[in-house]
Amino acid sequence: MGLHIVVPIKQVPDIEKVKFDVEIGRIDRSSAPGETNPFDLNALEAAVQIKEKLGGTVTAISMGPLQAQSTLRDALSRGADRAILLSDVRFSGADTLATSYTLACAIRKLGRFDLIICGEKTVDGDTGQVGPELAEHLDIPHVAYVSEIRKVSEEKIVVVSDMGDAYYLVEVRLPALITVTKDINTPRLPTLRDKLKARKAKIEVWTADNLADVADVSRFGLSGSPTTVYEITFPAEKGKNVKILRGEDAVNELLEILEERGFL
Ligand code: FAD
Repeated sequence: MGLHIVVPIKQVPDIEKVKFDVEIGRIDRSSAPGETNPFDLNALEAAVQIKEKLGGTVTAISMGPLQAQSTLRDALSRGADRAILLSDVRFSGADTLATSYTLACAIRKLGRFDLIICGEKTVDGDTGQVGPELAEHLDIPHVAYVSEIRKVSEEKIVVVSDMGDAYYLVEVRLPALITVTKDINTPRLPTLRDKLKARKAKIEVWTADNLADVADVSRFGLSGSPTTVYEITFPAEKGKNVKILRGEDAVNELLEILEERGFL
């Protein structure tokens, strides 16, 4: 039978190019092209590897604007079997609580699931909160910062959690949620054949109405978000104290500086 693994995937703006709308305290997502959150590629790879070992299905799910369909197509080309996009103006303005609540409702609606694999964080919001919050909404155990999966069966998973100053070896019964670090694997590249197949595949789009039977819709989007961003400020760039030495005297000058500073 195998496992039903759900991978929540976020489309993030190219962080090098994105601009901030300081007036309303938000990222201006239209200012840069979208790409898959890099940590979510590791989450997807972990899910596909488990599927290849034990059988089962992988469902990729994302909450975002319709452009996020391209991220889900990418997920299909990398081994996901089904892709669902939660997209509705009523989901917009969501903080992490409303985001995790909406994802949890959608996952509940999917019926049976055994394992949810999230990235440890996103490269835009960068909170690392959505995974653990999702587990709480679904009332299942979770392990964060998983850098290795040691064992997995239809009943349980044994993982290494990298907490920075220590590694924890943890066993959890399924259904459970894990969030993964970049160390867990190297995401595969999709083949051209898989890309072409994914281009034609169906992405299911669910709106707030599709979740109304399993959710309190007032908890979606801005109305379900207790967080208010009052101000966005940019950190002052620290000037680098660089001295460039050129010409024939460069070596002598360098020696003088090193001597002055007591290195020689
Ligand atoms: P993290 O917690 O760092 O992500 C961890 C993991 O959770 C990811 O690796 C992924 O597996 C999963 N995940 C996270 N987000 C999603 C998702 N959307 N779909 C699927 N999986 C996901 N952002 C907007 O885009 N538009 C808005 O209008 C907006 N309004 C906001 C208003 C407020 C008041 C606040 C505080 C934030 C707002 N945000 C908005 C940002 C939004 O809160 C975050 O983008 C979102 O909650 C995810 O948080 P994160 O990026 O820190 O994810």
